[in-house]
Amino acid sequence: MVVRMRRNRSETAKRRSHQALVAAQSLKCECGALRLSHRACASCGKYRGRIIIDVVARAKREARRAKRRETALRESGQVTEDKKEETPKS
Ligand SMILES: [Zn+2]
Repeated sequence: MVVRMRRNRSETAKRRSHQALVAAQSLKCECGALRLSHRACASCGKYRGRIIIDVVARAKREARRAKRRETALRESGQVTEDKKEETPKS
């Protein structure tokens, strides 16, 4: 590092005095869950009383994708813990 670029502790501290993180504002949704302000609720999908996210369809989609992923893994032979290939001798 060039001497010209060198900063002392005081200058570094002054610069970093503006870098503090602020905790996210969370408030209670009308469904009772905590949600972030200016964001749709993750549990009921509503924002300002209107339904923004179809949570039921999303849950169905996630389940379908998880199932498909699991079957793909099983067909490729990477998942071996749930199917018993070697039988115990006792
Ligand atoms: Zn909600």
